[in-house]
Amino acid sequence: MSSSERTELRDFCPTVYGPVRSRRHGLSLGINLGDAEKKACTWSCVYCQCGFGHRVGEISGLRIPARHEVLKGVREALKAHPDLDSVTMAGNTEPTSHPEFAEIVQDVLDLRRQTAGKWTFNVLSNGSELDPGNTALIAACDSLDEVWIKLDCAEEDLFRRLNRPIARIGGIHQHLVRIRLLQAPRIQTLLWGAEERPNLASWTEGNRKALLAAYKQVAPVQIFITTIQREPAMSGLLPVPATELEEFGEQVRAAGFNVKIFADDTRHF
Ligand code: SF4
Repeated sequence: MSSSERTELRDFCPTVYGPVRSRRHGLSLGINLGDAEKKACTWSCVYCQCGFGHRVGEISGLRIPARHEVLKGVREALKAHPDLDSVTMAGNTEPTSHPEFAEIVQDVLDLRRQTAGKWTFNVLSNGSELDPGNTALIAACDSLDEVWIKLDCAEEDLFRRLNRPIARIGGIHQHLVRIRLLQAPRIQTLLWGAEERPNLASWTEGNRKALLAAYKQVAPVQIFITTIQREPAMSGLLPVPATELEEFGEQVRAAGFNVKIFADDTRHF
């Protein structure tokens, strides 16, 4: 790993954080189901804003929050911020890797009902734990308002080199099969260029074509297309210019999808 590839902890990420103002999810309270002090994920995306961290398939050795701690933190945050638009499970890990993910989802849904909350309850996931045999996990995801699954690289080589999943995840075909286990998947696609290291760019004609084909296979109810907005794990990655991202968005729209583009035109390649 070169010196440009960061392995150190980027930020401390508490179990309940924010709320943060998100263009995609409004005023959103975050829940991190990982170790607050250690980024650990089943993928290790080159653009991850938490740094490369640890690429792991199990949570052993990590200090993940207990179910009751999550509920307590959310309950307290709701008292302080009654005007939330959403509560989103995201952070420095893959949220569905938490062994009590399904129970935590139910706890928070119960809390929303008890407090007559109007916020949506969502997850940002890479989908790595979706498995036909794990019906509780799939049911928990389907009980959420919005399940956003990552699909950045639809070409096999790019998926393995740039999303960098652990071995048991397999390739892009398995990823698409997992997404299709959900009743109403939403797709989040982040695209980037890399001027000086073109082999690290996901913004290629081949990947755009492959993404369109993949969207057709998965049939998501909504697609958000974004670009790099925070410092990536690997240096040299750059946002895609807004006009180009919009052009791709038009192609996706023309194919019949509900798509929104979130560009950053302050800097790009
Ligand atoms: S899936 Fe998310 S948390 Fe995991 S490495 Fe990729 S961007 Fe980071």
